Formats: sequence, structure tokens, C-alpha cells
Amino acid sequence: EERGAHQTEFLQAVREMFNTIEPVIEKKPDYIKWNILEQLVEPERIITFKVPWMDQAGKININKGYRVQFNSAKGPYKGGLRFHPSVNESIMKFLAFEQIFKNSLTGLPIGGGKGGSDFNPKGKSDIDIMRFCQSFMTELHRHIGPQLDIPAGDIGVGAREIGYLYGQYKRLNGSETGVLTGKPISMNGSLGRKEATGYGLVYYTDEMLRANGKSFQNQKVVVSGSGNVAIYTIKKVQEYGGTVIACSDSNGYIYDESGIDVTLLQEIKEIKHLRLSQYQTQTSHYSEGSIWNLNKRYDIALPCATQNEIDKDKAQKIITNGAYCVSEGANMPSTIDAITLYQKNKVLYGPAKAANAGGVATSTLEMAQNASHSHWPREQVENELKAIMKNIFDTVNKTCETYNLGNNYLVGANIAAFTQVADAMIYQGIV
Ligand code: NDP
Repeated sequence: EERGAHQTEFLQAVREMFNTIEPVIEKKPDYIKWNILEQLVEPERIITFKVPWMDQAGKININKGYRVQFNSAKGPYKGGLRFHPSVNESIMKFLAFEQIFKNSLTGLPIGGGKGGSDFNPKGKSDIDIMRFCQSFMTELHRHIGPQLDIPAGDIGVGAREIGYLYGQYKRLNGSETGVLTGKPISMNGSLGRKEATGYGLVYYTDEMLRANGKSFQNQKVVVSGSGNVAIYTIKKVQEYGGTVIACSDSNGYIYDESGIDVTLLQEIKEIKHLRLSQYQTQTSHYSEGSIWNLNKRYDIALPCATQNEIDKDKAQKIITNGAYCVSEGANMPSTIDAITLYQKNKVLYGPAKAANAGGVATSTLEMAQNASHSHWPREQVENELKAIMKNIFDTVNKTCETYNLGNNYLVGANIAAFTQVADAMIYQGIV
């Protein structure tokens, strides 16, 4: 607590994890002997750096850059880069901490990291974005590598930014395609990576629903956000027979009882980079404010925007609206009070570190393709993703059985992930 003082998001992520793992700590004295909890909360390395860049108007701007290399017990550091004005050390540490456990749940050999900058890409020209990315990579390049630390995208970092970052990395270090994932296809990215977090969320949630005698068929679904994760979540929910009646951005949300037109949404967000308020059909309504204030009946809530978007009051509203399932595409979108409320009301809850692991899993498939100088067909990538998400749910479910947790998938996921990481750490001694 002392070391993380004032780092509210980081402390929240640690508390959420540590509040749930008591049964396993009691079972295995080695975790105490090796002081695993204290070892776990201290990042192996935090790199912070200055990012100076000149914009098109000739103004010199200074931003702050970060890379948190949190834990390498399971493999090289892996985790996205976030460009958003709210980025600070607490947010970087919470995201990297979550990433350790999420990555271990995928069953793939990757450790946990995260990075980014308080740079705001909103409304910037392509040239300004490129100049910022070049300056950011001028420092970051010396700390990463295909066997060491492999960043990807996150909020504000999509294929365009990854392309500019990679271009600069190559000028400085030579061509190593495996150093970043989420690359555009023409630059040796993987088919299916862009869709992976959203599709993976729906695969995972579908497994959870089916284990409880339900499915997406004819269900009304609310998805927050309208970025990378949200768009492909909406697409897959519709393929699975659900109707997504609302989605949002940071200003407001659209509601359409007959279902969001995902092709129009993609045109507005992915091609034209406009605000959601520009989405208009004959049946849609736009409102300002949080999507979680919506007062309509629905069955499933899939938060895909950002951390702490659902507090206790919003969780109460979601439940009052009739939702029996909340499954997380965003990282830590629910506060601890919100999660407590889900559990009291027997809401089926898919925690982020299990439910949104499809993105990083497919990034690791991209690394495999780059390392073997090959490209896999889309179908192969999607089948692997589906199998990985099913496997994560099976692991979580089995852990629930072993520890008599019923369908408390939060505790199941935390225990399964914690044991894998802690055991790998113990094998390596004090590191
Ligand atoms: P994008 O930048 O593509 O989209 C983010 C979306 O969330 C936008 O619609 C954005 O609206 C909205 N949003 C961002 N901040 C806020 C806020 N403070 N309040 C309300 N809405 C907000 O990011 P991604 O889709 O990639 O990421 C979304 C979430 O998913 C994040 O939590 C991320 O960590 C997580 N995630 C992403 C993965 C990936 O593969 N991309 C993998 C695993 C998790 P606006 O445009 O107005 O800012």
C-alpha cells in the first residue's frame, strides 16, 4: 500500500486480485515462504521518458512516455501502448499488472507489460501523429525487442500508429517485424488481429452463457465504446443472434431498439474518424452522457470503453434494467463496489483478464507468424482464437469446481492466473 500510495487505479487492481486468492494462499505455504505477494506488486522495471515533438504549426510539444515491464516470469513482456491524456503511472501500472494474469490465462509464453503516453491523438493530423510516434519510438526502441518486450495497440493506438512506430523502430534497429503486434496486414500483421479482442469477448461470453443454460440468441445487448474492441464485439454479437441496442463514445451514446448498423458505425469511426453523434438513422437516437444511464430493458452488458466506467450506481441501473450478465471487453471497467453488486445479484460476470484476453492471444499468434516468416489464413487464426477463449473459460470453470466457487468466475479466473504466475516465479528463485 505504501509503495503504491496515491496510485488509485493500481491499488484497485491489486486489491481486486488479492481479495480473492486467500483459498490458494492457505493451500500452498510456498507462496508465503517466497513472499510472492510482495514480489508480485513491484514492477521489474518502469521506464519513463520525455517525448518532445514539433507539430505541423511549428509548435514544440512535450509529452511523457512510459513502458512498465512488470513481470517476465512467463516470457517476454507483452502488452499494449495507450495514447490518452489521462495516462499516468498509476494507470500504466494497473494495466501492466492486469496484463500479467491475462497473459498467463491465454496459456501462451508471455509476461506482462504496458506503456503509452499522455499524448492526445484526438483531432490531430496524420503528420502530427507520425511525428509524435517517431519521437516516442526514438526513446522506446532501446528498451524493446522481439524476444524481450513486444508492444501492441490499446486506446488511441491502432494500425496507423503501430505503422509509424514500426517505421521508426526499423530506422533505428533494422527490420524486426516481431517487435510490435497489431501491424497492418501489408506490414506482416496477422489476419484477424483487429477483430480479436471483440470476437474473443463474445466467444468467451458465449461459453459462460452456455455453461449456464443461456445464449446470445434473441438477447438485447448494450456495448459501451465504439472503438476497436466495441466494433468487433457488436459485429460478433449480431452474428450470434443478439441485438445490440446501444453503443457509446466519451461524449454520448446512440440507442436503436432495432439494432446498431455496424457497417455505418465502421464507416463513421474507422474510415471517417468522426464522433458518434454523426451516426444517424431513421430509428436511432443520440443522447449525451454515460451509456450506463440508459433506462431500457436489456439482458447483457458488455463494457468496452475504459476503466471504472461502471460504478456502484451504474451497476445498480444495469441490474434494474434487467441485465443478468456483464462481461468485460475493457480493462477494469467495473469498480470493486460494482463487482460486489453483481455478485450479490447473481449476475454472470466475465472479468476482463479472462474475457478480453483474445487480443493479446492473437498478438502472440502474430509473433509466431513473424518468427516463422509465414502468414496464416484468416480461418486458422480465428479457429485458434476460438479454441484459446474456450480453453480460458474451461480453465476458469474447472478452478471454480476445484475450489467450490459455484459460478464465481472472478475468483476462478484470479486463482487460475495467480497460481500459474506464482508457480513460474517460484521455479526461478528470487528474481
Ligand atoms: P479505442 O481507442 O479504439 O476505443 C476506445 C473507445 O472507448 C472509444 O469509443 C472512446 O471514445 C471510448 N472511451 C475512451 N475513454 C473513455 C472515457 N474516459 N469515457 C467514456 N468513453 C471512453 O480503444 P480500444 O477499443 O482498443 O480499447 C477499449 C478498451 O479495451 C480499453 O480498456 C482497452 O484497454 C481494452 N482492451 C483493448 C484491447 C485491444 O486489442 N485493443 C485488448 C484488451 C483490452 P472516444 O473516441 O470519445 O475517446
